[in-house]
Amino acid sequence: MDQTILIDENGKRTDGRSIDDLRDVKITIGVLKNADGSASIEFGKNKIMVAVYGPREVHPKHMALPDRCVLRCRYHMSPFSTDTRKNPAPSRREVEISKVMREALEPAIMLEDYPRAAIDVFVEVLQADGGSRCAGIAAASVALADAGVNMKDLVAACAAGKVNDKIVLDINDIEDKEGSADMPVAYLPNLEQITLLQLDGILNESQFNECLEKAIHGCKMVYEIQRKALIEKYFGNDLPEGEEKELEENKEN
Ligand code: ADP
Repeated sequence: MDQTILIDENGKRTDGRSIDDLRDVKITIGVLKNADGSASIEFGKNKIMVAVYGPREVHPKHMALPDRCVLRCRYHMSPFSTDTRKNPAPSRREVEISKVMREALEPAIMLEDYPRAAIDVFVEVLQADGGSRCAGIAAASVALADAGVNMKDLVAACAAGKVNDKIVLDINDIEDKEGSADMPVAYLPNLEQITLLQLDGILNESQFNECLEKAIHGCKMVYEIQRKALIEKYFGNDLPEGEEKELEENKEN
């Protein structure tokens, strides 16, 4: 078991949440005028900006594919996103996250609708507090929708993990560093498909299943926030018939 006390005797975590609580999530769409689609997300103390360009012509041209679109993702942490200055050059971690982010988003996009084209997704972390890859994926999927890219589903994302021998939802920075397992998950809520599953730490089989179940539950909560942000941006107060009622029902559950 991890040494640091991260869950107190009342079951409260370092930021006051209980084990099943998601941090406050706020998504704003259309925040960058020069991008084709954009979104910003506050996921607890994470602050992330996403810009989407395309579908557009591919440069360099030899990267173009005859039958589908090329999706390119760049995850980057700004030098002021952490407590000590982060080197602005892309680290191995950022290269890896850019790759898994692309793989998490690709299954949701109708890439075959845009042959010989490219879509570029830039994820810029302004402030990091654990779970930034999940927050980045959630914001990127909304920014893709904002760019008008044809999609089969949104991609929701949330991590769960093990802290002081308990499986908890949505790991923050200290829980990530001092806890014993972190499992980021991305999920297509309508297609019920997992597009990202990573695990840093060790879990036995039952803990693994509990952790995955919890992360998927978190993804479903994030999905409702993504959906609501899109509806608010595109319909304002004139929600399509039935949507308002459905949103209220989802909020209650
Ligand atoms: P995620 O943000 O997806 O949880 P990691 O588990 O790799 O990704 O990182 C956890 C947290 O560690 C980050 O959100 C960030 O707060 C912190 N972190 C990552 N890289 C650095 C760095 N170079 N300097 C300081 N803190 C960092």
